[in-house]
Amino acid sequence: MIGNIIQLEKVRMAYKNGVLKQSYLITGPWDIGKKDFAMAFSAMMFCETNDNCGTCKGCKKTGNLSNPDFYILNEDGQIKIDSIRELNKNINLKPYEFERKVALIIGAEKMTTEAANSLLKILEEPPEDSIIILTSAVPGQLLETIKSRCQDIKLKNVPKKVIIDELTKNHGLENDEALRIATIALGRPKLAESLAVNDDYGEEVEFLREITKKNLCERFKLAADFAEKKNILRLIGYWETFFMDLLKAKINGHDDLLTTKYKVKDFSWGVRSIVNILDILEKMREYIQSKIKNKLILENIFLNI
Ligand SMILES: [Zn+2]
Repeated sequence: MIGNIIQLEKVRMAYKNGVLKQSYLITGPWDIGKKDFAMAFSAMMFCETNDNCGTCKGCKKTGNLSNPDFYILNEDGQIKIDSIRELNKNINLKPYEFERKVALIIGAEKMTTEAANSLLKILEEPPEDSIIILTSAVPGQLLETIKSRCQDIKLKNVPKKVIIDELTKNHGLENDEALRIATIALGRPKLAESLAVNDDYGEEVEFLREITKKNLCERFKLAADFAEKKNILRLIGYWETFFMDLLKAKINGHDDLLTTKYKVKDFSWGVRSIVNILDILEKMREYIQSKIKNKLILENIFLNI
């Protein structure tokens, strides 16, 4: 886990003082490390010292998913009612090896309506000795009744220096490259790690140059295509970074403020257009919370760039 140490310390203190709640919702931007945090939180409850020692049976078994008292739902597509029933069955069993059962649902917004209603019933009367943890980058898509039953843990953007340290120490990056990636990642460590392995930022910025040459019909087609294939939250994040850099570079007249191979003069947007585009990107990021279709969101962006 990178960053958000204080949030983990808070739940550790709650645990040690016996005041832990029975359900939690971990929220925060895409790529901030919600799953890593949830894993660390879970391991803490099984750890012999409750300090995430990393070496005891509880830490190891939770980390490698062989802990019989730890249940994780981490599905690619929709989370269906059968999965929630299975989770319910599991947490209703007596703890087998440790003192409690912990269930984790990654990306809780992926639950179907039936699955969400079924989870709500569990949250209303959770089995004794059980803790349920949900994660979501788009909590706006969750039922209000589910949110109100969970204690919220909001993860925050991680300081640039922490991300640079991680990239240079654990990913073998040179300082300059670590700085460039940390700038693009805007405090999101999972994004920084992903860029360190596969840097697709340049490609998505290149796309912005291309789309300005397309006609309306082509833009609609691209929106449909992207909605199917791409991670829209990550894309909007890239574009926001790019346009913010471009705005700073335009205002200060420094090409080196850009995190791409291009120079300021290679982009025709004026300051006013850039500010407009940034407004639209921010609005569209909020729309994602309210379950508006990705295709519509992308159309709105592509028509305004
Ligand atoms: Zn441990």
